[in-house]
Amino acid sequence: MMPAMRILISGGTVVTASDIYQGDVLVEDERITTIGTDLKVPADRTIDARGKYVLPGGIDCHTHLDMPFGGTTSADDFESGTIAAAFGGTTSIVDFAIQYKGQTLQHAWETWMQKAEGRAAIDYGFHMIITDLKNQVEAEMDTLVREGVTSFKLFMAYPGVFMSDDATIFRALLRTGKNGGTICMHAENGGVIDVLVQRALAEGKTAPKYHALTRPARAEAEATHRAIAMAEMADVPIYIVHLSAAEALEMVTEARDRGLPAFAETCPQYLFLSYDNYEEPGFEGAKYVMSPPLRPRETQEQLWRGLAFNDLQAISTDHCPFCMKEQKELGKKDFSKIPNGAPGIETRMSLVYDGGVKSGRISLNRFVELTSTSPAKIFGLFPKKGTIAPGSDADIVIFDPTKTWKISKKTTHMKVDYNPYEGREVTGVTETVLSRGRVIVDGGKFTGKAGSGNFLRRACRMI
Ligand SMILES: [Zn+2]
Repeated sequence: MMPAMRILISGGTVVTASDIYQGDVLVEDERITTIGTDLKVPADRTIDARGKYVLPGGIDCHTHLDMPFGGTTSADDFESGTIAAAFGGTTSIVDFAIQYKGQTLQHAWETWMQKAEGRAAIDYGFHMIITDLKNQVEAEMDTLVREGVTSFKLFMAYPGVFMSDDATIFRALLRTGKNGGTICMHAENGGVIDVLVQRALAEGKTAPKYHALTRPARAEAEATHRAIAMAEMADVPIYIVHLSAAEALEMVTEARDRGLPAFAETCPQYLFLSYDNYEEPGFEGAKYVMSPPLRPRETQEQLWRGLAFNDLQAISTDHCPFCMKEQKELGKKDFSKIPNGAPGIETRMSLVYDGGVKSGRISLNRFVELTSTSPAKIFGLFPKKGTIAPGSDADIVIFDPTKTWKISKKTTHMKVDYNPYEGREVTGVTETVLSRGRVIVDGGKFTGKAGSGNFLRRACRMI
């Protein structure tokens, strides 16, 4: 037996969703084994964390690496995307496998496992996107839950491509009541949006801003309400992905006030960007074409309030980067052909720390909860991930809360030719990152290895 590799993180401020204290954290091989004060143990390496926060590694439960969309593929694959994630203090992702029409879920899962294997530098799990719920596929949902793919995403938007009708959604919800899985919902009324898009194009409105103007907040609110109502009738929890509109948040708040297990995430782009970005000159607005779209600036404060008061439970990125050149350009003459998505996997932790904790909108504990602990609980990764505790995986971020960082295409590692936050200065920087006990980011350098991330066989929801 090889003796365990020991790393001692000393003198830092350990922050979890519930605690803040000065302490030393001992890591042996892949796990945290001891937490104490003034630990006097021999270690292969001691990391001085004085003046820094010692945080559980970030969990981004909404990413799209190597994903085909609109005739092209998202610019980050599992290697570049997970390395960028690590730089930003994220040590686990839950990405989306896609079942296309006629395929089995097994086939879709294997396809995405192949994309990640040998490439991912941090641990990864999958949600399964269902687009074709035949009876046989419905039965397959149970198998996937047993194999650790315990959540399924359905779409109320993109008719003819991803959209499911209400009967299909209701069947999927009922099934999760039996198998313990969770339904994640893209809640926008796709039928209404399609009509608005066709009308805009017929009127010659082709600029990027029409992407937003044809996806009204009410279309998101209506679908959010309908999704929650169907989950209520099926007597199961539901998780709304990338909630962007204040009107949709109202639906979630109302449901939670009635005691329903309705959950929702938002994303940094909805907290820091707004409709105004679509008004940037020329074709620049294409950088922000994503669904749902950016909303009026006032929405940002409403979302922050939702995060502070637990009407929103998680912040994920929906990282789905497309380059301006050759990718976003596909929609130069027609906004509906602009691939939907933007980069963000690397900037989430710093943005949320700066805009949330430093600005006094959320507590430091809440920051950890929203970026790590709560996604871990909702998606069956807790307490292996999402906290700093003896027995948990040593996924640890040493975070400097005083250092500043100018976000730019030049200072980030995502494989895309722009950054939506170009030039924004944030306080709070990821300095050192451990993934299952291995130091993978060390003083601004990547020291990990592509392919060393493990597939995360997730348990069922703990909510
Ligand atoms: Zn998405």
